[in-house]
Amino acid sequence: MNIAIIGSGLTGSLAAISLAHAGCRVDLYERLSDEELINRDRTYAITHSSRKLLEKVGIWSRLVSHLIPFQYLNVIDYEINKKFQFLIEDLSIENRNYLAVGWIAEHKNIMLSILEVISRIENINKIPTSVIPNTNNYDLIVAADGSNSTTKKKLKTPSFNFNYDQMCITAKVLLRGVKSNEAFEILNSEGPFAVLPLGGDLFQLICSQSMLKGSYNISLSKSLFLDYLSTLLPYGIELDTIVDKPSSFPINFVFNYSFFSGKFIYLGETAHKLHPVGGQGLNLCWRDVDCLSKLISISFLKNNHSFIPFIYSISRIVDVLSISILTDSLVRYSRSNINIFLLPRKFIFYILKKSAFLRKHIINIMTNGL
Ligand SMILES: Cc1cc2nc3c(=O)[nH]c(=O)nc-3n(C[C@H](O)[C@H](O)[C@H](O)COP(=O)(O)OP(=O)(O)OC[C@H]3O[C@@H](n4cnc5c(N)ncnc54)[C@H](O)[C@@H]3O)c2cc1C
Repeated sequence: MNIAIIGSGLTGSLAAISLAHAGCRVDLYERLSDEELINRDRTYAITHSSRKLLEKVGIWSRLVSHLIPFQYLNVIDYEINKKFQFLIEDLSIENRNYLAVGWIAEHKNIMLSILEVISRIENINKIPTSVIPNTNNYDLIVAADGSNSTTKKKLKTPSFNFNYDQMCITAKVLLRGVKSNEAFEILNSEGPFAVLPLGGDLFQLICSQSMLKGSYNISLSKSLFLDYLSTLLPYGIELDTIVDKPSSFPINFVFNYSFFSGKFIYLGETAHKLHPVGGQGLNLCWRDVDCLSKLISISFLKNNHSFIPFIYSISRIVDVLSISILTDSLVRYSRSNINIFLLPRKFIFYILKKSAFLRKHIINIMTNGL
């Protein structure tokens, strides 16, 4: 099969490898240079569904030394001062063997490993342009050109989208009072706040804030911003220093009503975009990749490829919709700090702390998808 992929971000480039593995000839269109693709300052939480796909396409072994595993995911409700933990024992037996609830990865390490693998695969042809000269040359066209996809706009594919009245601020910091193998999801009235381990005392903070407060805070001097961040951290964790210049970006939600249009298939952020603090975005994008490559490996569909876009779209809907709703609920829960919600919040945390069954169920949806 001849496939064109538009966009060589983390979704498009992994799709190229995965589809090449499935026996396709892939033309990968990207307007940015490799250097621009690599030099993005982002940090991702990697789940077991991503680990499985990376293993399948031979990237896991070269990437694993750059990943920081975490064995504890602490969820703290700052407003009611309650906490519970997801542990390795909450995972399915197969995932437990990896001794990690998840991993933290820096963008440049993942992108470098992927580009290295691409350079060794003969049936991937990288084309440094954004225009596909003749779409008739391809059996399928994968649009992985991100949340501002021009392909989607051209094809007028409708989507449900809205902007959160929030921005995301990220900063690398040195912390005291935290183990290097634990991550935190802190729910406070400003919005969820993630603390991700980067090795030793180094941690990535990803916090969501109202636009007003966020714009003010990001403009503070380093020392005042450090004082402010200290107020967000749970008791016992101390902030030593901010390592890099904090950065910020607006947050929006996108959900396509359909994940295809004719022979165009939407993958990754072209099809859906979530609030980043749940740590699910990239993993969901990569499960799109896994689903498409599994469909393409089915010999009936290989010979009848016009069915693939529709079947792909149907196959992805439950996972994408449920993770989108779960992530959005987390944000709304975090911000619902008015008094009448405090008692139900205490009840929810009490149940989650006591019920291993519920914790296992939630962590397995988060790490494997649906
Ligand atoms: C500023 C910012 C910071 C983020 N930080 C985090 C974070 O800290 N943690 C986290 O988990 N997630 C983060 N995310 C989200 C995360 O980056 C995405 O989930 C992930 O990159 C999705 O990958 P993608 O390949 O689907 O889209 P993208 O990464 O957007 O890739 C799309 C690619 O398509 C290319 N392209 C676009 N149009 C064309 C065209 N017409 N022709 C050819 N190529 C084209 C673009 O150049 C780009 O390389 C962040 C997102 C942004 C915007």
